[in-house]
Amino acid sequence: MLNLIALDGPSGVGKSTTAKRVAAALKWDYMDTGAMYRAVTLAFQRADVSLNDRSGVERILASVGYEQRGTSYFLNGEDVSDAIRAPEVTKNVSAVSADPRVRTLLVELQRNLGQIGNWIVDGRDIGTVVFPQAICKIFLAASPEARAQRRFLELQAKGLSTSFEEVLADQARRDHLDSTRDLSPLRKANDAVLLDSSDLSLEEVVEKIVQIYRALPQVL
Ligand code: C5P
Repeated sequence: MLNLIALDGPSGVGKSTTAKRVAAALKWDYMDTGAMYRAVTLAFQRADVSLNDRSGVERILASVGYEQRGTSYFLNGEDVSDAIRAPEVTKNVSAVSADPRVRTLLVELQRNLGQIGNWIVDGRDIGTVVFPQAICKIFLAASPEARAQRRFLELQAKGLSTSFEEVLADQARRDHLDSTRDLSPLRKANDAVLLDSSDLSLEEVVEKIVQIYRALPQVL
């Protein structure tokens, strides 16, 4: 057993906001695995390398230096925290993250990081594949409309022009790709607790997760 909280769920369900708050409540660290897939997607885009270009993919993956410092994300030393949230990256990330070469590299990085310290890790395959031995697994769910509404408001706040319908359609496309891919599809682990956040406030979700974790037998 590993003293780690695995937080999985679909796009826009509020995993990263929730995970940051749980980390703060427990004084733990937060690992955003989606940001890693986004950073690699950005690296491919910038180098204009497609997934069909075998040597290009190998070259990019061999040269990717990724780091998370606090809530900022760095690609080869450059702060890409904003760039990885751009609509173009969001559009391509599901295809990139379905690639076995990309997953092998990033899962290894995640497992190495997770060895030391106390982590809450969010993603799609954390409880099923990356850390199946995690002591606490949560699968966060919410209706497609509730999720799209949150993402829509987030994008609007950032001044990005997009319609609610576009956000909903893009989310449905990503949900489909993420849950039907062969490798590590989005799926609730059998031993994960299902938490539907559609009618809960952020505070309530955070409190529930902390309660679930604290009720578990402690692992040293
Ligand atoms: O969580 P976020 O929306 O930033 O993740 C971006 C994308 O990265 C997801 O749509 C999914 O395709 C991919 N992802 C993944 N496995 C993870 C985390 C994210 O495949 N553990």
